[in-house]
Amino acid sequence: MWKIEKQMAIAAARVAATLCEQVRAQQDEQTLQKADRSPVTIADFGCQAVICQALQTNFPDDPVVAEEDALIFKQPENKSRWEQITEYVKSQIASATPEDVAAWIDRGNGQVARRYWTLDPIDGTKGFIRGDQYAIALALIEEGEVKLGILACPALPFHPEQPNQDKGVLFVAVQGEGTEMISLHRNQSVSVRVNQEQTGEKLRLIESVESAHSDRAKYRELAAKLGITQTFLQMDSQAKYGAVARGQADLYLRIPRPENLSRRENIWDHAAGAIVVTEAGGKVTDLNGNNLDFSLGSKLTNNLGIVASNGAIHNQVLSIWAKSRN
Ligand code: AMP
Ligand code: MG
Repeated sequence: MWKIEKQMAIAAARVAATLCEQVRAQQDEQTLQKADRSPVTIADFGCQAVICQALQTNFPDDPVVAEEDALIFKQPENKSRWEQITEYVKSQIASATPEDVAAWIDRGNGQVARRYWTLDPIDGTKGFIRGDQYAIALALIEEGEVKLGILACPALPFHPEQPNQDKGVLFVAVQGEGTEMISLHRNQSVSVRVNQEQTGEKLRLIESVESAHSDRAKYRELAAKLGITQTFLQMDSQAKYGAVARGQADLYLRIPRPENLSRRENIWDHAAGAIVVTEAGGKVTDLNGNNLDFSLGSKLTNNLGIVASNGAIHNQVLSIWAKSRN
C-alpha cells in the first residue's frame, strides 16, 4: 500500500538531500535564530520548500505539519537570505520565485487531521552546522498512526564499518512492508533488520551528541542496569533510529531533563524514525510503554520520552524505568 506516496516521498527526499549537500558544499550553513532561540539554516527552509512543493502537486488535499514557517523572511534584514534560499530552490525547481518559495514553506503550517504529513526538513540542525549527521524526515500519518516514513541521511555511511566511505542513505518504511535502506548515490537497496542477538555488555546504546536534549545521566544509569556500560554511540538527528533499524545500535532513549520535565516531543522529530525501527523488527514506545500517539497535534502530548529498541530488550527497559520511578 501507499505506493504512490512512497514513490513521491523518496523522490522529494532525494531532491531535498541534494539541496542540503549543495548548501554544505558552498559552506552556506550560517544560521538564523528562531523565536525559541534554536538555530535554523537556509537549507532547512530550502528543504521544506521543495518537499512541500512536491506534496502540494501530488496530494493537494493533504495537510502538512512541518517544523519551519516563512515568517522570518517578513523581517527586512532577512531579505537577502530569502533570495539566497530561492537560488538553491531554483537549482531544483527552475521556475521558483521568492513568493513561491515562501508559499511552499508556509504550506507546512497545516493542522493534524485524519490523514496528514509531518516533515522535519533538517532534523539535527546542530549536527548539520557542525558537519555531522542530520536527517530529512518525512512521514505520512493516518488515524494517528505512521503509515510511511522516509529518513534521508546524506552524511551517513552505507556501511557503518566503513565510516568514511559511500555516504548518503535513505531509510524507507511502509507499515506492514518492512524497512529498506537505499543508497542516495548508487543503485542499491537492502532490507534492514534490527539486531536481536546482542546481550549484556555487547548491547549498544546510541545517544544524541547534544547532551542538553535528554537526561544523559538518567538514561546511562538505566542502560547500566541492562549491562551497557561503555558502548555509547553518539549521533545527531533521527539517523539514530536508522542505526537501531540496521542493527548498528540496540537502544535509543530520550528522557526529559529535570529542568524540562513538562517538555513534550515534536511529532516531526519521531514519526519517520519510529516506523523505520518498528518495520525493521524493533519496538518504539514512550517510557511508560505507551504507543506514540500522532493524533493530538504537533506534540506527542500524551507520551513521556522515547524508548526505541531492537524489540528483544524492550520490556526489560520499561520495567527498569518503572522501578526507578517507585
Ligand atoms: P537530537 O539530535 O536527537 O538531539 O535531536 C535533535 C532534535 O532535538 C531537534 O529536532 C529538536 O527538536 C530537539 N530538541 C531541541 N532542544 C531540545 C531539548 N531541550 N530537549 C529535547 N529535545 C530538544
Ligand atoms: Mg528536529
